Amino acid sequence: MGQNVVVIGAGVVGMGCASYLQRDGHQVTVIDRVEPGRSTSFGNGGGIASTFVLPLAMPGLMKKYVKYYLDPEGPVSLRWSHMPQMLPFLWKFLRNCRPERVKECTEALTSFMPPAYAAWKPLFEEAGLTDLVRAGGGLWIYKDDAALRHDWPFWQGRRDKGLPFEVISDDELRQLEPSISRDYKAAVLETDWHYVRNPYKIVAGLAELVQRKGGKIVLDEVVDFDRGPEGVTAVLTKGGRYPCDAVVIAAGAWSDKLARKLGSKVPLESQRGYHVTLPNSGVDIRHLIIAGAAKIAITPMDMGLRIVGASAFPGIDAPADWRQSEMVLSWGKRILPGINAEGMTQWFGERPLTPDSLPVLGASPHFRNAFYAFGHSHMGLTTGAITGKLIAEAVSHKPTSIDLAPFRIDRSY
Ligand SMILES: Cc1cc2nc3c(=O)[nH]c(=O)nc-3n(C[C@H](O)[C@H](O)[C@H](O)COP(=O)(O)OP(=O)(O)OC[C@H]3O[C@@H](n4cnc5c(N)ncnc54)[C@H](O)[C@@H]3O)c2cc1C
Repeated sequence: MGQNVVVIGAGVVGMGCASYLQRDGHQVTVIDRVEPGRSTSFGNGGGIASTFVLPLAMPGLMKKYVKYYLDPEGPVSLRWSHMPQMLPFLWKFLRNCRPERVKECTEALTSFMPPAYAAWKPLFEEAGLTDLVRAGGGLWIYKDDAALRHDWPFWQGRRDKGLPFEVISDDELRQLEPSISRDYKAAVLETDWHYVRNPYKIVAGLAELVQRKGGKIVLDEVVDFDRGPEGVTAVLTKGGRYPCDAVVIAAGAWSDKLARKLGSKVPLESQRGYHVTLPNSGVDIRHLIIAGAAKIAITPMDMGLRIVGASAFPGIDAPADWRQSEMVLSWGKRILPGINAEGMTQWFGERPLTPDSLPVLGASPHFRNAFYAFGHSHMGLTTGAITGKLIAEAVSHKPTSIDLAPFRIDRSY
């Protein structure tokens, strides 16, 4: 029988959950303090990168991060006053760089990521969003064959999992994307990737669909929960009380505060990223281009060319540091010489990062009708729909399509 479910968070993950909950016959109310898609899901790189099965924490990563940090043009930045708060997270992150843990996390991500696009397809179709979606993949670019060889363990990890990609020669790269600087002479094509031409419109379109099907969207801030012997009985906001049979916490980088109210302490850090969008770039590209060494991605969008990057850890409430978006732009100029920045807009968003790169999915160990759907770090657009599908299965007491044990909130991070 359909339940009355409150979803907290109207980002891409919350709307993925709301959409699939409706498909399972539930009544849905989505609560967010901002309009759907106006938070982190607004400004991402648009990639549906379903083969991205390796966690961020890898052997040797900390060495790489220190190098990045010391490089003024590098993607990593810290705010030292945030360090004391961040140390426990960093310690857990380091522990996840152990090979045996990397193997476990890769196994879990290999069950979760590859079905991501298939989960999106019916939602895109029902919401009339297919025009915003492009197939044809992502293109990773490298300075030369030696740089690609240096990254080969990453690609071998994919190959070991049977995930497809094609190595592209210098000549083929010129044919695929003539605007890319001649400084890049090797590439890998991710044949299974898709990208969207406006991430915000994807979330807004899903919100419209949810409302058309009888769901409610409420603009308010959740502050607490009413609890009874059977679990959570209502969600309390600044402006009211919303009785529920079940609640889904999909509040992105802010979810730890709400989980704590339900008795679960979870290590969640905001990994801030920046974008610049160039409405008059003067450059035409057909793929989502990734320069792995600089952690930069460039996507052709309806609003112009979007360049995303940076991995900043200033703490979630820190003000913007627009030097980061300048760094992102300067990398964009190196990759696509001659781009025009006139009319550029800039933005930042908070990637919700767990120490093991696995999102938190599934039921609360304390309240049988509270469910978690957060911590999607750099892959929330990719996995918003598969998350929704899994959460709807869990709320409906169906067997879940994949084993959610590695994703539970009370795992050993
Ligand atoms: C620069 C950048 C590039 C990226 N590129 C990609 C990409 O190419 N592909 C990809 O898959 N992912 C990408 N990501 C990651 C992706 O954007 C995120 O993983 C995703 O947006 C997270 O979605 P979410 O719904 O969990 O969070 P959000 O979109 O942040 O939504 C959470 C919502 O919860 C609300 N909320 C929080 N607390 C409360 C409360 N107490 N009461 C009411 N509402 C509350 C917030 O207002 C917010 O709207 C990128 C991220 C960044 C920053």
